[in-house]
Amino acid sequence: MAVFDGLKGFKVTFGQMVQPRVTKQYPEEKRKKPGRFHGRHVLNRYEDGSEKCIGCELCAGVCPAGCIYVRGKDNPPDAPVSPGERYGYVYEINFLRCIHCDLCVEACPTEAITESKILEFSFTSRREAIYTKKELVVNNDGTPKRLPWEDWRVGDDELTSGWMRATSPGGAKDYEGLVHWSGELGQGVRKPEAGQSGLKDEDASPRYMIRQVESDRISKRHGGRVR
Ligand code: SF4
Ligand code: SF4
Repeated sequence: MAVFDGLKGFKVTFGQMVQPRVTKQYPEEKRKKPGRFHGRHVLNRYEDGSEKCIGCELCAGVCPAGCIYVRGKDNPPDAPVSPGERYGYVYEINFLRCIHCDLCVEACPTEAITESKILEFSFTSRREAIYTKKELVVNNDGTPKRLPWEDWRVGDDELTSGWMRATSPGGAKDYEGLVHWSGELGQGVRKPEAGQSGLKDEDASPRYMIRQVESDRISKRHGGRVR
């Protein structure tokens, strides 16, 4: 009887032995990261290759950790770096301080700064922890730079502007699925995030730019004469 009671005590243990394993052999094997994962930042470009950053310093102002340093400079008239009057001449992020809160991403008026999904990076000196424009601005094909000390895996460079694709889930229903962000080099205009009222991600499409909505509204007000 005592043996039977002992076996009964192992019921949960034996039950777990036949369950599928959930342990991953990290870092060789990694879990898929969520769409809005906050990893190492990137500085984006427009589809024509120009830089989105206009050197306004809003990201630096809002950062609670004080880890962004930006200096803006007037665009050279003959070879502008960005479409604005100014561009980010110096841009630095100190990743020893960054807490990946994404407030800089939310504050940015041009969607210049967003985050990739890479978190596996380390440094051997304080200098290496300070990323400059050279490391942060995306490649000529729009993908993030893969630095030698970073462990990039499949998917870490996808949807670097993940959270921006959410379209008014708590606001006016009419705005759900409406794209109000600009295209990115190598990516075009990204699809809106779905799943907020039954719409699935695979069914979402950049179907209607917000400026078109505005243009239609103004046109209607003027009896269809404005385009
Ligand atoms: S994610 Fe947060 S802490 Fe990091 S640079 Fe942006 S605002 Fe600063
Ligand atoms: S990243 Fe955005 S908020 Fe920061 S300086 Fe550039 S444009 Fe301004």
